[in-house]
Amino acid sequence: MEQDIAGVDQSVSTGVLPGWEAVEAHVVAAYERSRTRAGGAVADYIPILAAADPELFGVCVAEVNGEVHSAGDAEVGFSIQSISKAFVYALVCEELGHEVVHERVGVNNTGLAFNSVVAIELNDGHPMNPMVNAGALATTALMPGRTPELQWEAVRDGLSRFAGRSLQLDTVVYESEAATNQRNRAIAALLESYGRIQRDPSEIVDVYTKQCALRVSARDLAVMGATLADGGVNPVTGEQVVSAAVCRDTLAVMAANGLYERSGEWLFEIGLPGKSGVAGGIVTIAPGKAGIGVFSPLLDVAGNSVRGQRATAYLSRALGLNIFASDVHRSKHPESHQGQES
Ligand code: GLN
Repeated sequence: MEQDIAGVDQSVSTGVLPGWEAVEAHVVAAYERSRTRAGGAVADYIPILAAADPELFGVCVAEVNGEVHSAGDAEVGFSIQSISKAFVYALVCEELGHEVVHERVGVNNTGLAFNSVVAIELNDGHPMNPMVNAGALATTALMPGRTPELQWEAVRDGLSRFAGRSLQLDTVVYESEAATNQRNRAIAALLESYGRIQRDPSEIVDVYTKQCALRVSARDLAVMGATLADGGVNPVTGEQVVSAAVCRDTLAVMAANGLYERSGEWLFEIGLPGKSGVAGGIVTIAPGKAGIGVFSPLLDVAGNSVRGQRATAYLSRALGLNIFASDVHRSKHPESHQGQES
C-alpha cells in the first residue's frame, strides 16, 4: 500500500468546535449529567489504587487554540497508568519511524484483556499492539537511552512536553505496583524468550512501571490529547512535541486498541480515538479540534472509567466530535433551496 500512495501529499480536513461559551457550557453539562453513581469499582490489583476516593470526578476539554474548559476535580492528581502507552508510543514513532514500529510492535487488536499472556502465545510471541501490556513493554524497550535511567528520563521528559509542565513520579503508586507486578515481569520474560525485546526484561518492566506511575490531572490529559489533536504542537506551550505524521499513526492505533477488547464498542458509541488507564483517567482526541481528559476511579470490568465514558460520550455528541458522523449536504436540504430561490 505504501508504494501506491508514495509521493501523495497528506491533506487534512476537519471541522471546528462551537464557540467558547458553548464548549464551556457543555463541559459543565457533561460533568453534571455523569456525576451520579452508575456502578463500577476501583481497581484493586494494584493495592494502592484500592484506596482511591470513588467520589472524585473531573472533566476537561483543551481546544487546539489553547483554551481550556474544566469542571469538577479536573486538577486532582492520579497515576496516568495505561494512558502513558499512547504517548510513549508517539515518542518511539518519532524516534524510529512508522515502518520500524509497525514491524516491531504491531497495530492489530488482540480482542483480549490488557494484561493477557494468552494473546502473546496465540500470536507466536508477537506483542500485537502498543496499547496492551506486551506491546507497551516492547515499545518502552525501544525508547532511546543507553541505560534504564536515561530511558526513564526520556519518558518523563517526553510526557512532560505533551502536558506542558514537568510531570512527577508518584512514588507511592510506583512502589505499590513494583511490589506486585509479577504478571508484567512474566510478560516481559516471555517476550524476551521470543526475541521481541533486546534489553534486560526486568529493567524494562521497571521503566514501564514508573511511566505508569507518573502523576497527571484530567487537565493534563486534555492538554496532552490536544497536542495529538494539533499536529503534534502543544497548544498551551506552542512546542512541537512530535510530528503531524506521528499523531496520525498514534490516533489510528488508539482508535483500534485504546479501550482494549472494548475498543469496538467505544468507537461505536463515541467515534473518537481514546485511551484509558486503571486509575480512572481517559484521554480522547478530536483531531484538529480538542483533547478531552476525564477522571473518575470507578471502573467497568475491562478497566475503563464508568463516569469518564459517560462524560466523553456526552461531549462527543454535544460538540459534534464523532469522526464518522456526516450531515446531508446543504444543497440537498429543501429549506436551503428555498433560501436560494427567495
Ligand atoms: N500499570 C498498569 C499495568 O501494567 C496499567 C494497566 C492499565 O492502566 N490498564 O497493569
